[in-house]
Amino acid sequence: MNLSILGSTGSIGTQTLDIVRGFPEKFKVVGLTTNRQINLLKKQIVEFEPEAVAVMNEAKAAELKKENLSCKVYSGLDGLIKIASLEKAETVVSAVVGEIGIKPTLAAIEHQKTIALANKETLVAAGEKVMKLAKEKNVEIRPVDSEHSAIWQCLRSGKRSEIKKVCLTASGGPFWDKAKWPLEKLKNVAKKDVLNHPNWDMGAKITVDSATMMNKGLEFIEAMHLFDLSSEEIEIVVHPQSLVHSAVEFVDGSIIAQVSKPDMRHAILYALTYPERQANDFAPLNLFNQTLEFVKPDLERYPCLKLALECAKKGGEFPAKLNRLNEEAVAKFLNDEITFLEISEYIQNKLVF
Ligand code: MG
Repeated sequence: MNLSILGSTGSIGTQTLDIVRGFPEKFKVVGLTTNRQINLLKKQIVEFEPEAVAVMNEAKAAELKKENLSCKVYSGLDGLIKIASLEKAETVVSAVVGEIGIKPTLAAIEHQKTIALANKETLVAAGEKVMKLAKEKNVEIRPVDSEHSAIWQCLRSGKRSEIKKVCLTASGGPFWDKAKWPLEKLKNVAKKDVLNHPNWDMGAKITVDSATMMNKGLEFIEAMHLFDLSSEEIEIVVHPQSLVHSAVEFVDGSIIAQVSKPDMRHAILYALTYPERQANDFAPLNLFNQTLEFVKPDLERYPCLKLALECAKKGGEFPAKLNRLNEEAVAKFLNDEITFLEISEYIQNKLVF
């Protein structure tokens, strides 16, 4: 299978390449893109020999173009769109961060590529448009987000009309423990504490989103679009061990859950090999001596999640607006312009219901 990977230098991108490395007879890379990490991209070009790459940042693209590379180098958003539509690409892994992923993903759908979607902002900000086009073009959108991959797998157990409720699990992030992190202490939380997720190793933006639980709010909206669910049909369940990646309750009272190690490669590989399951050498989960807890989220402690659920319910322009304000707020936090608790304040103040 020929792959174009949008965002190949990020967390999902590098893990996708790790899979390609493990199954060279199954996957071939034809296109790669990065925002600005050209040194890593260069190494990936040498190892995977894509026919073309794109660099979002124009200055960095110009720098890369000066090198004597074996592949074409495109730049900017048009470059990303080019890589998303490469003739040889059969599946496009959309793993860029933020709403910048929308146009390339739409272009890939337009060209009838199978989509392995890790970029949740695409569905949050443009879900209706993306799903409608995918339907028109008869294109499969396969989730790479671990929770959505879990729901997708659980849904194979029953029909749409048999779903009672989808349980979207959340780790709760690094500040879940109220005793260790009372609200008072969260006021002065350091960036390194926020970026220190207990279970998952991810990029900076999603790690901050995970600490505020905005990530779960975005995933809630993502799930509504992917599986055509109303907000009443999804329930968020905090599960600090991150072993149950989500579950679906059916009308007969059976709850089917997907359980595995918190290793994104499971979700990536399943999206790439669906409907087959591919044997692999990832460290397996040992169920012995595991304790699984499930708790209701405290919305007062997680104002970002509360805002996201309100936007999910309201629909219309609100999810896109929420997503944009969150991207701004997280960038400001990572740039030391606002504190951790000011992230939700920043969004709330600009979000007029
Ligand atoms: Mg997730």
